[in-house]
Amino acid sequence: MTPRSIGVRLTVWFTSLFAAAFLILAGALWLALRGSLYQAVDESLRERADGIVHFIEDHETRLDVDEVKEEFRAHGELFQVADESGRWVHRGAGLADLAVPSSAAAADASVGEATLHGEPARLLTQPVEIGGRRFVVQIAAPLHDVEQGLYATLRFLVPLFAASLVLAAALGYWLSRRALAPVDEITRAARSITADNLAHRLRVPPAGDELTRLTETLNEMIARLEASFRTISRFTADASHELRTPLAVMRTTAEVALQRGADGRERAAALEHIVAEIERTTQLVENLLLIAKADSGAAPLAREPVDVAAAVGDACAQASVLARVKGVELAARLPDAPVYTSGDAQALRRLFLILLDNAVKYTPAGGRCDVHVERRGAEIVGTVRDTGIGIASHHLPHVFERFYRVDRARSREQGGAGLGLAIGRWIAESHGGAIAVESELERGSSFRVHLPGA
Ligand code: ADP
Repeated sequence: MTPRSIGVRLTVWFTSLFAAAFLILAGALWLALRGSLYQAVDESLRERADGIVHFIEDHETRLDVDEVKEEFRAHGELFQVADESGRWVHRGAGLADLAVPSSAAAADASVGEATLHGEPARLLTQPVEIGGRRFVVQIAAPLHDVEQGLYATLRFLVPLFAASLVLAAALGYWLSRRALAPVDEITRAARSITADNLAHRLRVPPAGDELTRLTETLNEMIARLEASFRTISRFTADASHELRTPLAVMRTTAEVALQRGADGRERAAALEHIVAEIERTTQLVENLLLIAKADSGAAPLAREPVDVAAAVGDACAQASVLARVKGVELAARLPDAPVYTSGDAQALRRLFLILLDNAVKYTPAGGRCDVHVERRGAEIVGTVRDTGIGIASHHLPHVFERFYRVDRARSREQGGAGLGLAIGRWIAESHGGAIAVESELERGSSFRVHLPGA
């Protein structure tokens, strides 16, 4: 099971790594110590052997048996000399008891392992030539003291290891807590941010490290959430407001019709009024729904080849009825050959209908509305120009905003809730295009739609 706290995990990692490093280091140290102690023992064995060789060489010409014996005895129990054929010239009791065999055939000096009374020892075997005859000298040294020393070292290392492990774990935990404390703070602060206080921001740690970047990123995310939240709240408020007005109108109209004394004609007129208001409200609700779907990505547009000229032609046919009723001349100049974009035919028809509808709505009787579609390089440009009332320059940057109306009273009278151009812009941008406006008060407006050609 993985611990759920990074602090604990880091501590475990830190302690394990420390333990591994300690064990490797202590092991290497111990082996080096053992090696050098063995080497010291071997060295002393060699020195003794050299001493014997020198003694024999010095006395070669006048070798006195007693002197030799004395010398050999001085080397203690763990010493033996054999001649070439393996016969003992001298044999210390210690090695004789243990039946350490002679290495009569030994050609070179060597030091090896031996066991004396069940305890490890080092055994030096060295060939010596005296007066043309070969002898083999063997000296042993018990490793008892060395082993004692090594054991003592081990006894010192084990508790040291345990203590350092505890210390490393404590240090690791303290370090990880210290390093992760800002994360806890960020978590606490982030948890306290709800829909009610989206204006709050997390405190950015000044270190300029990963946590600083994390906090900044979170703050940017909260800012985006706040902006979306504001848009949604405003949309809901505006939508409610827009719906309240027709409901109030319908209610008042119905109340008037229901008043005593209202005759059949008045009542019929009231009902007609109500039906017209319902139609407008239905349109408004449909637009609201479309915008809500567009925002949530639930209004996918088709991606197929669409002839923009044909879409504009259809929109013109629909708008021509309104234009005729209003007394506005509607003229379309469309290319003969199809101009294709990739997109949604119905949505594009709707976009141009919005522009044509506005052009007719905001152009007094006797005015003109010209529609023009052309291919410009890789682009398709559709223009809807009218000779209507125009838009004041300070309104121009806002006309594509939701619920934005230049003249609230007048626009509502004509059935607009200020959503048409917002939907139009969404359609154009969803097709990878753009929409722009130029206008002059009392002279007319010109809306231009740019779409990528397919
Ligand atoms: P509405 O449904 O109210 O017309 P739109 O989003 O279509 O909403 O337009 C926003 C505002 O832009 C309108 O209220 C109107 O004041 C202005 N507008 C749009 N088109 C024209 C136009 N062709 N001529 C003059 N003003 C226009």
